[in-house]
Amino acid sequence: MGSYSRIFLKPKKEESLLRFHPWVFSGAIRNIDGEPVEGDLVDVFANNGAFLGRGHYQPGSIAVRILTFKDIPIDTAFWIKRIASALELRKALNLLRESENNAFRLVHGEGDNLPGLIIDMYAGTAVMQAHSVGMHSARFAIAEALESVLKDDLTAIYYKSDGTLPFKAGVDAENGYLMGNASDVIAVENGLKFHVDFIKGQKTGFFVDQRENRALLEAYSKGRSVLNMFCYTGGFSFYAMRGGAKLVHSVDSSAKAIGIAEANVRLNFPDDTRHRAFAEDAFKYLEQMGDMYDLIILDPPAFAKHRDVLRNALIGYRKLNAIAFEKIKPGGILFTFSCSQAVSKENFRLAVFTAAAQSGRKVRILHQLTQPADHPINIYHPEGEYLKGLVLHVE
Ligand code: SAH
Repeated sequence: MGSYSRIFLKPKKEESLLRFHPWVFSGAIRNIDGEPVEGDLVDVFANNGAFLGRGHYQPGSIAVRILTFKDIPIDTAFWIKRIASALELRKALNLLRESENNAFRLVHGEGDNLPGLIIDMYAGTAVMQAHSVGMHSARFAIAEALESVLKDDLTAIYYKSDGTLPFKAGVDAENGYLMGNASDVIAVENGLKFHVDFIKGQKTGFFVDQRENRALLEAYSKGRSVLNMFCYTGGFSFYAMRGGAKLVHSVDSSAKAIGIAEANVRLNFPDDTRHRAFAEDAFKYLEQMGDMYDLIILDPPAFAKHRDVLRNALIGYRKLNAIAFEKIKPGGILFTFSCSQAVSKENFRLAVFTAAAQSGRKVRILHQLTQPADHPINIYHPEGEYLKGLVLHVE
C-alpha cells in the first residue's frame, strides 16, 4: 500500500485515533509526505512512525476521515464488508419487515464506520449521500457493494450529493441513478405508507430518524386535537390519525411539503375529514392560532448549523416553545425537538426550561427522546449525536 500519501502527526496527537475517533484535525498534522488532493486515500502515522489508519483526505479543519484503523486495502471487499455489517444491525433491530416496515437508515456515517456516507432505504430504493469528496469518488464502488449485499432486495440506487458535498470542493456532484430507476416510491414505516420524493424533497426525501418518536406520539393521540408544526411530509400526522386523534392540523412553510403531507394522510386514511394542512410560516400560525390544541409537535429545521450561531438558535428554540406553552390547553402534551448537532441536550433543555418559566405554567418532563438505533453513535465520536426531544405535560 505504498502508493498513498503519508500523513505524520505531531507528538501525542495520535491519542484520539488510538481510541477509534475517526477524524484527524489539520492542527494535529506534523507533515505530509506526498501531495494528496481532496478525496484521495491517505495513510496516517504517529510521530514515531506507527501506522494509525487509512482514510479520505480533505484540505480543511477535518483533514482525514479514517475508514480503517488497520492496514487493509479499501477495495470492493472492504465496502461489501462494511455495508453487510450495517445491514446485519438493521436486521437485528427488526427494521426489515416486508410490507410492515421497509424504511430505515442503512448507513449512518461515523456510526457505521463509514465517515461521510449516508444511505437511507425506502422500499428497496437506496438514497445515497456523500458528505466528503472521498465518498463521492467511491460512489460506484459503494453502489456495486450495495448490489452485492442487498441482491434482490435492491431495486434502485439514487445518488444525491449536490447539497451535501463541501461547498469549495468544486466537484460536479450531479444527482442521478447509479442503478435502476424508481418513480413515485411508496415506503412503509410501522405499517403506515408514505410517498418519498428523494429527487425534489429535502434530505433523502423523508426523516427516518423520527420513527420511534412518531410511534410514541401515536400512543398519546387518542381523542386529542393535534398540531403538527414543521410537518414536512406529514410523518407525525398520519401516526396521530392512527392513534385516534380528534383532529390533526399539519403546518409547514413549504407548499410542496404540504401537498405531499395531504397525499400521505389520504394514502392511509382516504375520506377521513379529521386532517387539514396549511402552508404557512410557523411563527405566524402560532401567533394567530387559538387555544384549541392539546397535543403539539414542534420539529423545526436545524437552527444552528455552526457553533457561531448557537446563541441565536437557543433564542429561536426559546421563542418557539414559549408560544406553545402559552397556548396549549391545560393537560396538553408537547413533543418538542432539536436536530441541530451544535445544540447540546443540556442547552436545548435550558432553552425549553426558560420558555416554560416565562409562561408560568407547571411543566413536567415525561420522556427524553433521541435518534433511533439505525442512527447509531460511535461512542468515541460523540459529534454523531444530534437529535434530541422532550415530551412535556403542561398543566
Ligand atoms: N417533522 C418532520 C420533519 C421536519 S423538517 C417529519 O417528521 O418528517 C423541518 C421542516 O420545517 C421542513 O419541512 C421545512 O419546510 C419547515 N420549515 C422551515 N422553516 C419554517 C417556518 N419558518 N415555518 C414553517 N415551517 C418551516
